[in-house]
Parts: sequence; C-alpha cells; structure tokens
Amino acid sequence: MAYEVTATRKRPQLFDGLVGQQFVVSTIKNSIEQGRIAHAYLFSGPRGVGKTSSARILAKALNCEQGPTPYPCGVCANCREITQGNSTDVIEIDGASNTSVNDIRVIKDEVLFPPQSCRYKVYIIDEVHMLSTSAFNALLKTIEEPPEYVVFIFATTETQKVPATIRSRCQQFHFQLIPLDIIKDVLAQTAAEMGIQAEDEALFWIAKESTGSMRDAYTLFDQVVSFSNGMVTMEQIQQKLGLAGLDKISAIIGALLEEQTGNALQALHALLDSGVSVEQCIKDLAEYMRTLLLIRRDITNESILGLQISQIPEAIRQAYSDEQLEAAVELFLKLYRDIRFSLNPRFELELAVSRLTHLRHMASSATLVRKVEELKESLLSGEIAQARPQLAKPIETIAQKAPVQQIVQSTPIKEAIVEPIVAPKPIVPPAPIPAPKPTPEPTPMARPAPQVEPQRKEVPPPPVSPPPVKHITKDLLPELIQEMAAERDPVGIVLSQVVEVSHDDKSLRFTFASNYAMETARQNSERLKALVARHTGYDGPIEFLKTLPKADLAQSEKRQTNELANTIATMFRGEVLHLQ
Ligand SMILES: [Zn+2]
Repeated sequence: MAYEVTATRKRPQLFDGLVGQQFVVSTIKNSIEQGRIAHAYLFSGPRGVGKTSSARILAKALNCEQGPTPYPCGVCANCREITQGNSTDVIEIDGASNTSVNDIRVIKDEVLFPPQSCRYKVYIIDEVHMLSTSAFNALLKTIEEPPEYVVFIFATTETQKVPATIRSRCQQFHFQLIPLDIIKDVLAQTAAEMGIQAEDEALFWIAKESTGSMRDAYTLFDQVVSFSNGMVTMEQIQQKLGLAGLDKISAIIGALLEEQTGNALQALHALLDSGVSVEQCIKDLAEYMRTLLLIRRDITNESILGLQISQIPEAIRQAYSDEQLEAAVELFLKLYRDIRFSLNPRFELELAVSRLTHLRHMASSATLVRKVEELKESLLSGEIAQARPQLAKPIETIAQKAPVQQIVQSTPIKEAIVEPIVAPKPIVPPAPIPAPKPTPEPTPMARPAPQVEPQRKEVPPPPVSPPPVKHITKDLLPELIQEMAAERDPVGIVLSQVVEVSHDDKSLRFTFASNYAMETARQNSERLKALVARHTGYDGPIEFLKTLPKADLAQSEKRQTNELANTIATMFRGEVLHLQ
C-alpha cells in the first residue's frame, strides 16, 4: 500500500473524530437529529482545523443509507463513495481555482437535476471567499431558492471576504484553533499507533509549532518521524531543524544573570556554530523572554506560554521584573526587524546579548519617576528632621526638597533663605547620622559616574573661569570625586556641584551651584576636610558657599543639572522628558 501522509490517514470520518471543535460538532449533530437541515452552511476558521473534514462528514451524515443521522455508518455505498471522493452527488469545488461566474453557472444548471443515488446533492465549495463578485452574485440566486435536495457547504479562512448577502443565507459555524495540549495528546496517540516512541518535549514542540492547526501538526510530525528512526527526541529535532534548544538558551541567560557576559557570548557562539541561524536564535530568545514575562504575569497554561515551565530554571524565572522582561522581549523583536538591514546580523545579536547583562539594573522612565516620587516622599516626611532637630521646620523642608529639584528642575532655590542657613553651620558634628539618609538615593548615582564621566572627557562641571589660587584649584576635584565614587560615597555627587574653588592664607573655599549641595557639604565637612587633607596636605579651615545668582552661573547650573539628569537617565535607562 502506498505511503499516506498522516494528515490524510488520520482525517476524521465521524463528527466525534474532530478534535477541539466541540461546540460546532454538537450543534451540527443536534440539528441533524432534529431534522433541521439548512440549505447552506458556512464553515469559517483557520486552516487545518477540520472545516473540509466536517463538510465531508456532514455530506455523509445527510446521505448515509441509515440517515440522515449524526453517526453515518461509513460502510454503506453512499458513505464509502463519499469517503473515497467518488460520489456523483457530493461535488467538491475549489473556490480558489474556480472563481469565475461561468464556473458558478455550471452549478446553477446542475442543481436542476436531482441527485442520482443520494438523498441530497451536496456542493462543498472550499475557499469560497476567492470567488469573484459576479460569481457570488450568480451563487446568491441559487442559494436563495434552492431545490430542496440541494445543500451547499462553504468553507473559508476569511469570513469577512464573503459578502454579507451570502453569509446571511447560511448557517455559520466558526471553527477554532486547536489547543496545544489536545494536539499533543493526539500526536502521542498517533505515535503510539505507529509504534513510534516520542519524547513528551518533542511532541510539545511539534504541537507548539503547528500553532493550533492539526494538519500542520501532522505534517511536521511526519517530517520529524522521517529522520527519527522510530525514536522522536527533542535533541534530534534541534539538530536536524537547527533549533536553539531550551537548555542552551537557559545557559546563555544564566550566564548573563551572573554577569558573566563572556560566558554568555561563548555559549551564543557555540550555538551559532552548531548550525542554528541568527534569526532562529533571536526567535528563541524572544520566545524565552516572552515566556518569562507571561510566567511573571501568573500565566501557567503551557499552551499559552509555548514552553514547558519545568524546563526553565527557577532562578531565571524569578530574576527579572515585569518591565525588564518587557524591555527584553522588545529588544529581540526589534532586533529581528532590524537584522534585515544589518551589516552583520551576528554582531547585532552579540550586541543584544551583551546588553542583556544590564537587564537586571534596567528601569523604565515610569519607574524612575516613581522612585523619585518615593524619594521625595521620604525626604518630605521629615526623616531627616531627626538628624537635624535644631533647624527650624520651614528651612528643613526647603533643604530637603532640594535633591528632588536637582533632578527634576534647576530652579534656583530662593536666595533669601540662603543666608539664615549659614547660621547653624556648627550643627555639623554627627556626621554619621545624616549619612544614612541620603545614601539610598545617591548610591546608585555614584556607581555609573566613573563610566559616564570619562566618555564626556570633561569630568568636572563646565568651565567657570578658575580663579588663580595658590595651591588648591578646581583641578583637584576630579581626583576627589573619583575617590568618593569608588567608595560609593554620595559626597562625590556634591563635589561635582562645585563651581569655584578659591584658596588664600586664611581658608579654602568651595562654592557650590546649589543650596542642597552646599548644605550636604556642610553636613559632611569633617569627611571632606579629611579627604582634602589626604590629597593635598591642607588642613586649614574650609568654607562652603553658595554662588550668587549671576546670569552665567545660572547657566552653568542649568547645564550641570542637565548633565545630572542625563546621568540619572542613562543609569536608569530612561530618558529625560522634561526639565524645568
Ligand atoms: Zn452509511
């Protein structure tokens, strides 16, 4: 006997053999049982889900010698002829290749003759949406008042292209995509019938790839069986079809999580060298990230996830936040679009994987705004007040507001308030106490500082004529900032706000662009002194001042704030939307 593809061999011969279409099946069966037989049916739905099979079963159900019955016997002459496609009374027409009005006119003439051996003359028109407008019009006349022995069954993948005038004269049935687990079960059953051993993972993959179409699933299954020697394994599928494989992708992501970018890139290269294409690799990575995202959203249905949860390591499932995963999926989707125009797709993929190392530190601008808000809240809630109980409340509030304003806007703080603050200068002593408060915010800032600054070449704030001084000048600042950044000390940020350094016999003066910077410097004066002494040997008094609002200084402050905002934006991978 000639080889028959599984899709044909397994074509259902009874309504009960149709998988995943319970609603359609039970409705049709009921209407046959109750003798309510329509003259025109319209079966719509995606390809490979059983529309044509259902049409043939319906033809048999109507014409079986035992019928009309929802359970055609399959053995009577009519049933057999219809199954074999030999029946003169069941006519299958491919709408795609018989689109003209003449083709339909033939039908129009034919329907005048009653069926020869069957009870009903059944016309099955596949892909009916392909008919021309004039053909539809001709058809319309026929289905408006057909002879009582004629039944039309139209099948289409695109209902919306079928004219409403036709649709309204048909009983419509919408076929659905078949769920992944049902396809997998059917494949497992088929494999068992064929005496083929198949791994669960392999069947899951075939079912997933067939995206809800039983016919596609059978076709892919046949292909896999053909190179499997009676044992269908995922490993073979990966090899023969050039797939990445979950474990390999997990290895890449796992290495990235440990910040071992080199290992991740090596794993990627091993994968590409094993014959997996760059495109496939991107698809697999995108799918992996999408699955992680859906898991984070509490979706556990594997037919939606597309991957088996148990195969993804727990550590990876927990590692990323929703928005980080969203960013990752977006990264790969965009990458897939972009590589078509790329000089070297492989480089693009490497770049993307390398970038994923930072995924865990990624934050959207929404998060950035939220964090700033939280920070503002905690600053305004008076937590700092405990550290500086001596200060009057209004002054505190403004001083505490300052950091937020630094970030969001560069509006100079009311100058009038500057002077009164100078008075409580000796409050400084408990240096360790104020430190913990500002720490949670600026610590992350201190981290990228060494990365970002060197790129811009100009480390300290932009040029504000460095005045001639004896020993210590602004040139000292980068050194100090760098040391503070290395220690992740927020004072480093404050130092980057120094616009002027002057030095005479009496004292050393740091002039700051903002009140907040000046205040923070004062609070940390002991540490700053020690720092300066360490770098210069100078151990005299240090004064911390605030610049007068000259036009050019305001300019420089604005520039500085921009720079600060940009640094923060870079760090959080957001963007600065609005600066006031
Ligand atoms: Zn029969």
